[in-house]
Amino acid sequence: MATADHVDLERFIAGVSKRNPGQPEFVQAVQEVAEDIFEFIADKEAYHEYQILRRIAEPDRVMSFRVCWEDDRGNIRVQRGWRVQNNNAIGPYKGGIRFHPSVTESVLKFLAFEQTFKNALTGLPMGGGKGGSNFNPKGKSDHEVMRFCQSFMTELYRHIGADVDVPAGDIGVGGREIGYMFGQYKRITNEFTGVLTGKGLEYGGSLIRTEATGYGAVYFLQNMLKNVGDEVAGKTVVISGSGNVATHAAEKATQLGGKVLTLSDSEGFIHDPAGIDQTKIDWIKELKGRRRGRISEYVKEFKGSSFHGDGARPWGVACDLALPCATQNELNGAEAKILVSNGCIAVSEGANMPTDLDGVHVFKQAQILYAPGKAANAGGVAVSGLEMSQNSARISWKEAELQQHLLDIMAGIHERCVEYGGRKDSKVIDYVRGANIAGFKKVADAMLAYGVV
Ligand code: GLU
Repeated sequence: MATADHVDLERFIAGVSKRNPGQPEFVQAVQEVAEDIFEFIADKEAYHEYQILRRIAEPDRVMSFRVCWEDDRGNIRVQRGWRVQNNNAIGPYKGGIRFHPSVTESVLKFLAFEQTFKNALTGLPMGGGKGGSNFNPKGKSDHEVMRFCQSFMTELYRHIGADVDVPAGDIGVGGREIGYMFGQYKRITNEFTGVLTGKGLEYGGSLIRTEATGYGAVYFLQNMLKNVGDEVAGKTVVISGSGNVATHAAEKATQLGGKVLTLSDSEGFIHDPAGIDQTKIDWIKELKGRRRGRISEYVKEFKGSSFHGDGARPWGVACDLALPCATQNELNGAEAKILVSNGCIAVSEGANMPTDLDGVHVFKQAQILYAPGKAANAGGVAVSGLEMSQNSARISWKEAELQQHLLDIMAGIHERCVEYGGRKDSKVIDYVRGANIAGFKKVADAMLAYGVV
């Protein structure tokens, strides 16, 4: 039999760029993974012959649809909705829904691609998907959000199912939106199944799902530090974002004895040298949750803190540990250099792809402890996986049991990263490489078992 052609990395990326014009985020995510996978598969013929990476980097399907809704003044509004089903080799498609004006097909394709590796890393049987819309929930009334969610689900419902594709929340989609979407799904299909995760506790949701992503990112950080004989206690922590992930990361970092100095939103960041303790975190949860306020209001409430506006990011504040928990490409190469030169020893990503490619290269070169989102923020989707199990069995697990599962899953992901991210000639773990290879291998081996399908 003829040996398959070995395309080199450069030609592979050129091909991905050519096939996905105007989709820079998707190309970036594929490139970050391909840089490690090419080295790993160099001597593994089957992965080449069966074009595994090429196939994972081509979504199984992308659905794009119109979403019409009526605002409170009676205007008809038109948005675009998508669901990207990237890969279901190891389980039903699984991944969140994002409502934000920055959402494009490129952003959702990158997220669905990342999700495929992340979900594999959790050890649970979940494939990768993502969906969303360019709808902006900011400033909309509850009824407007409800009408939008119902309209969105009126198309989405035909593409999803408890054993097909299980969406959840992401930026702009929390408990309120999941409630409206689940209600509409149930109304259309007359079925009560675990078709969405992140549901309310009254209707099939799981305990600790809300906390899981932020807590998990800190558990991962804790595992990385423990591996080099260090700990979170006594360290200063810089966090970006102020949503669900950021506030729970701040909470867990504080519980472990860290001092959280910053949080942010799209308008800028707050810096509190006294530390953002649990009382302040609770105030922020209320502000950003029910009140849907802006982080700048913090400085009026807590003396001694400062607000840095014009969309400023917190990476210039000296710290030991950094947790980017806002959004993609919020930390560039220059900012990564500042973090490193200020003495930052570890970065754990609560957001998806918050560090751009230059930044990733800076962290890799500086050999600091750097955990990419697909490993560090997998706690959220992991507890979603546990929500699916509870829904299928029609039971609810206790909080202590779920907390232990989350700790074990994050420790397991860390172990897998160490297994594939270590090098014989160095003590330093390359967590990006470890996460990429471990995630890839599980999906790839399942795909090999199926042949060419
Ligand atoms: N949106 C989250 C993520 O990026 C959670 C997805 C889920 O729970 O399905 O992983």
